[in-house]
Amino acid sequence: MTSVSEMPVSATAAPALAMYGGTFDPIHFGHLRSAIEVGEVLGVKTTKLLPSFIPPHRSKPETETEHRLQMLNLAVQNIKSLEVDTRELDRAGTSYTIDTLKTFRDDLGVHAPLYLVIGLDAYLLLHEWHEWQKLTDLAHLVVIERPGYENQEPQKTVKQWVENKLAEKPCDLKRCAAGFVCRIKLRQMDISATMIREALRENLSVDCLLPEAVIKYIKQNQLYQYS
Ligand code: ATP
Repeated sequence: MTSVSEMPVSATAAPALAMYGGTFDPIHFGHLRSAIEVGEVLGVKTTKLLPSFIPPHRSKPETETEHRLQMLNLAVQNIKSLEVDTRELDRAGTSYTIDTLKTFRDDLGVHAPLYLVIGLDAYLLLHEWHEWQKLTDLAHLVVIERPGYENQEPQKTVKQWVENKLAEKPCDLKRCAAGFVCRIKLRQMDISATMIREALRENLSVDCLLPEAVIKYIKQNQLYQYS
């Protein structure tokens, strides 16, 4: 694998890109706000939302791929800075992030900053990810604080690995194409897809937790045992 960490950013490089993966089962305002804000903080024009086909570190999504994708498309339809990217669905099989990063790197070349955005809950399990130590060879890792996980730290091996990669401010990442890790705090929204699935099962309102168009889609297709 080509290591692009610490590669200087060149004036002729492709525009910087942020990628934000998840099961999005369903997509909600916690995802959308953090994806919009992280793009602004990093100064990227586009943040790609990547629905995973088979997530390696958690149970299979409850909802069929096609529905998760439709809900994502509805959610981003009027948000200029967000785009849905289906490469993990197209590839099928287990959606290892390292493989996805390789394809982005092939598209971008070695001189453009690439940001892998994950929530703190995902970061706490980083040591379980396939080839996790190689992630920063290809991208910067941007960790978003998440309500309910305050002051939590990753496993010791991850903490040691991160020590000489930590960037204090997001703007410090812009100098290189990859290689650094930065923790950032955005507007915190205590919303999870689990909470939404549970509310729907209990026939409780999910208004204001996710876009109306997505709620309508859930009702029309009777997802999450909506009755
Ligand atoms: P579930 O409850 O089913 O585990 P989730 O709401 O955590 O789902 P995922 O699709 O698993 O959503 O998450 C995708 C990414 O979004 C992860 O990196 C996760 O940490 C992040 N994320 C999810 N919800 C929030 C939130 N409210 N604030 C910040 N990051 C979030």
